[in-house]
Amino acid sequence: MEKKLIIANWKMHYGPIKAGAWIRAFRRERLPKDLDVAVAPPFISLASVRASLGRASIPALASQDVYWEMEGKFTGEVSPPMLEELGIQYCLVGHSERRKHFGETNETARKKAIALQAVGISPVLCVGETVVERRDGNALKTVRAQVRAGIKGVKPDGKAPLHIAYEPVWAIGSGRACSPHDIREMHEAIRGILRKAYGAKASDVRVLYGGSVDEHNILEYMTTSGIDGALVGTASLDPAAFGRLCRASIVT
Ligand code: PEP
Repeated sequence: MEKKLIIANWKMHYGPIKAGAWIRAFRRERLPKDLDVAVAPPFISLASVRASLGRASIPALASQDVYWEMEGKFTGEVSPPMLEELGIQYCLVGHSERRKHFGETNETARKKAIALQAVGISPVLCVGETVVERRDGNALKTVRAQVRAGIKGVKPDGKAPLHIAYEPVWAIGSGRACSPHDIREMHEAIRGILRKAYGAKASDVRVLYGGSVDEHNILEYMTTSGIDGALVGTASLDPAAFGRLCRASIVT
């Protein structure tokens, strides 16, 4: 397995000016060499982040969303080639907030993932159960269905390998992180589906965890077997705290 990956998801925070300032501050942070780090700003701030990075390749750029058509009459949307022009490396699809507020489904997430791979951008398919689904004993069933539907036609490997982020909805932004035991159980189930779909190539897919990860609990997650990285929302908004989180994620 390659390096672990941490993606900062800023959600709807930081327009172009503040985003540029974040990057300039973050570039002063010392980062572990054995770690991939990416930042996912809002669409409107992607160009400013790219400009503030200059020639630096760390953090890599990620997008929070995309539309699946390459061009056309789709007012307000952003296409995969537009992201590719800016050197975007990763793009979230199927984030639970998009599923909840904007009608994202397994099918739209899948179409976005396929369109992204066509232009060389790695899709990060987000999956996770609600609190009711967990309470009713349906967590595994829900996540298995999301993964099976979301990866149809999506390649595990190549220039833009698939990534999966397991993010229990009840753990996102709640301060109630999932226990490493429960994450391991879910990641094993996800790996089982990937092995069935992709055979040996399944090991090219990094499976991340997201949900109330911070600088204090990151190491426990990153040292839990089967977790290949983290998707971090709230704890990524402060560049110094996010720098500490990245350093705390690896035993040196
Ligand atoms: C997220 O929205 O992807 C996320 C993980 O948020 P938080 O870290 O705030 O729980």
